[in-house]
Amino acid sequence: MSLEKINVAIIGSGPAGLTAGIYAARAGLEPVIFAGPSLGGQLMLSTMVENYPGFEKGIMGPELMQNMIKQAQNVGTEIKHESIDKVDLSSRPFKLSVGEKNYEADVVIIATGAVPKKIGLKSEAKLLGKGVSNCATCDGAFFKDKEVAVIGGGSVAFEDAIYLTHHAKKVYLVHRREEFRAEKVLVEKARKSEKIEFVLNYTLKEILGEEKVAGIELQRTKDEGDVKKLDVEGVFIAIGYDPKTDIFKGKIELDEKGYIVPKKKTMTSVEGVFVAGDAEDFMYRQAITAAGDGCRAAMDAEMWLLEK
Ligand code: NAP
Repeated sequence: MSLEKINVAIIGSGPAGLTAGIYAARAGLEPVIFAGPSLGGQLMLSTMVENYPGFEKGIMGPELMQNMIKQAQNVGTEIKHESIDKVDLSSRPFKLSVGEKNYEADVVIIATGAVPKKIGLKSEAKLLGKGVSNCATCDGAFFKDKEVAVIGGGSVAFEDAIYLTHHAKKVYLVHRREEFRAEKVLVEKARKSEKIEFVLNYTLKEILGEEKVAGIELQRTKDEGDVKKLDVEGVFIAIGYDPKTDIFKGKIELDEKGYIVPKKKTMTSVEGVFVAGDAEDFMYRQAITAAGDGCRAAMDAEMWLLEK
């Protein structure tokens, strides 16, 4: 058992956590970021980001995050490649642990982000990594000249479908209605692709196959509700994200979907615990808004410490 004392602990290393690190370090708060299982967060798995200001031609997601990581370290943020698995926020200093290692922190900034949502089919869990994927950029290359389906109608589903056209012979974009949440520019790009076929008003009913994906069954959401089969070898689920807040259940106020509820600016229901990014934001969920939240949380934490 070891114990280390920390001034400001930041849990999570996406745009929210890293920006909080940059601001807290420059305020002399000696922050430590617990990077979690995916240093750099969701953008490490994305491709071109065209809507993050400051890059006239866009920037690749992983490059943007590498820059943020280096910037945070250059101004004095320590990054630990550890995942906090338990917290005790009942009194200050707050207690955090990573297995047998214990930490005490005066302030905690939660920037744990979100994880991909599941449809909830048994076959989805059984065939994950065997044709079922949540990450087109990670797994797309396995489907060279094959037929694949992407499930969802948001920006991520469209980005995935467009990315997959570089590898697959055909990409079905399956969405449960006719309107899309995705950015219009992505919808237009997908419409122009000869490889993408829209399958609208259908949901995923079953994924076929024992050892690997051997097709999918779709259920129509309109009219008679017929079932149809697509002979795809890959299925990419892109139906949004759930907040990654399990370790905070019962410790701070969460809403019914598990998002952390900010109480006073970025402060949570526990004084001295702040939140930034997708762990609380179910509305905007952009890299730039997460970064902005990280800045606000670090500044709120600094002001709160000054008042103490
Ligand atoms: P999203 O915008 O929430 O879209 C999820 C999609 O999945 C919706 O079309 C939804 O359908 C569908 N869906 C949800 N549950 C379903 C189910 N059980 N069965 C079938 N379909 C289901 O999620 P996202 O595309 O993952 O994007 C997440 C956030 O990241 C968004 O706010 C997006 O703007 C953001 N994003 C940001 C950047 C950036 O910062 N540069 C890049 C990409 C994405 P309905 O529409 O019918 O509800």
